[in-house]
Amino acid sequence: MSDLFQFNGAKGTGWSQPDPMIKNAYDTIPSSLRRSNLPRWPRASEPELVRHYTWLSQRNFGIDTGFYPLGSCTMKHNPRLNERIVQLPGIDRIHPLQPDHQIQGLLSIYYEMQEMLEVCSGMDQVTLQPVAGAQGEFTAIRCIQEYHRSRGQENRNKVIVPDSAHGTNPASAAMCGYDIVEIPSASNGCLDLDALRAAVGDDTAAMMITNPSTLGIFEPEIAEAAEIVHNAGGQMYYDGANFNAILGKTDPGRMGFDAVHYNLHKTFSQPHGGGGPGSGPIGVKSHLADFLPAPIADRESIDGDGVTGDGYRYFWRDPSRTIGKVQQWHGNAGAVVRAWAFYRRYGYELERMSEHAVLNANYLRHRIMNPDSDTLNSIPVMPKDGAPAEIVKHEFTLNMTPLKETIGVTGKDVAKRLLDYGYMAPTLYFPQIVPECLMFEPTETESKDVLDKFAEDFLKILTEDPEIVKTAPHDTKVRRVDEVLAARSLVLRHPLNDE
Ligand SMILES: *Cc1c(COP(=O)(O)O)cnc(C)c1O
Repeated sequence: MSDLFQFNGAKGTGWSQPDPMIKNAYDTIPSSLRRSNLPRWPRASEPELVRHYTWLSQRNFGIDTGFYPLGSCTMKHNPRLNERIVQLPGIDRIHPLQPDHQIQGLLSIYYEMQEMLEVCSGMDQVTLQPVAGAQGEFTAIRCIQEYHRSRGQENRNKVIVPDSAHGTNPASAAMCGYDIVEIPSASNGCLDLDALRAAVGDDTAAMMITNPSTLGIFEPEIAEAAEIVHNAGGQMYYDGANFNAILGKTDPGRMGFDAVHYNLHKTFSQPHGGGGPGSGPIGVKSHLADFLPAPIADRESIDGDGVTGDGYRYFWRDPSRTIGKVQQWHGNAGAVVRAWAFYRRYGYELERMSEHAVLNANYLRHRIMNPDSDTLNSIPVMPKDGAPAEIVKHEFTLNMTPLKETIGVTGKDVAKRLLDYGYMAPTLYFPQIVPECLMFEPTETESKDVLDKFAEDFLKILTEDPEIVKTAPHDTKVRRVDEVLAARSLVLRHPLNDE
């Protein structure tokens, strides 16, 4: 036994492993590959480690500490039931390489999730493999690329993206090697069909768009847009980050799309932020299905260890057609199971989720837009000179320019001041087509009381002494940071290694 394991769960280490597991594992490593000295990990006892993470959590803001109206991110409450389900031994103690007949429960969840997502998106086949919306975009655009190649149309090298798109759309297409064609929005913030007609051609591979758009506005002419792109021989890609607005009401299949991604961590709850952990399944129409990554879960009769009958199994694809894997197995299993648990609680009532999300967004918008004072009545919510939309979907934007021009308080100042009131700031300066943009998405899991209080506090900030707002936040553990400095000279230091 090497000195390496003298530290096991003792003297200044905050971790412990069952002894036999460690010893057996250690003995199987050839001596030439074993470490001769310890890694320079921080040395901390269990209480020190617990304090460290608790200290970090107190410096942080989360959906469990306050209202989190971060537009485009769908920060909804994460029901604790999801955690109970994902920790069941039949789910968290299994290995994907176990034979199919031993993991029927998990495979049935995968299968049901695939089917539910197919129904809700109007697509023919879903893969759960991508672990983020952005990775789903990349996976689907690669499938579209292989589809064009299989038809001898390598010349299609352009992807069209509206100027209101999330940055991941052009980034994913560029990673596939495509040139990006950005088209401007019309003055009401919606898709400009004339600009689209001018942009398509026999070099169009696809158009990527989200509907409702990042302005929270449903594109009424989406079917015409799909026709224009299809007539030019291109494919339609639906960015599904805004599914919270339409689930059970309409679907991208009906709107004319060929491929979509879901952000399970947004629409179906899953603690997320700071880059993970997520799940970004994609769905495609049948003409693209051959190109999907494998495996997917499928129904079939099974036979093994005395278990026979109807069941579930992995289904692999023709290796000459699939784009290959983007992750192992079904991607982020935990996120898929949590999302499944969330949707199962709604069941056939799933469309209530979208109804309440849209209702909450419109309610909050009207509370903010029609205050007793006139401060915000003059703030147009639409970009450029378009008239404000009557209703929005699950999120909305505010153009804070009038405030900036009258009292010199910017959208960012207001966002920072909201932190002092115990709220997460809304999304800031996105989408870029709205000047001084603040973007709110309350989600369906907030009560009317929370929205009322938030609206009251928000309006109060607009009438506060501008100096207080401009120097906010005042009450947070970390005050206003120099973002450029933080990005250019990032310090990642463990506090216990300070000496
Ligand atoms: C969040 C989001 C994405 C990217 O999803 P990730 O899961 O963060 O990779 C893409 N498009 C829109 C509109 C989004 O809001």
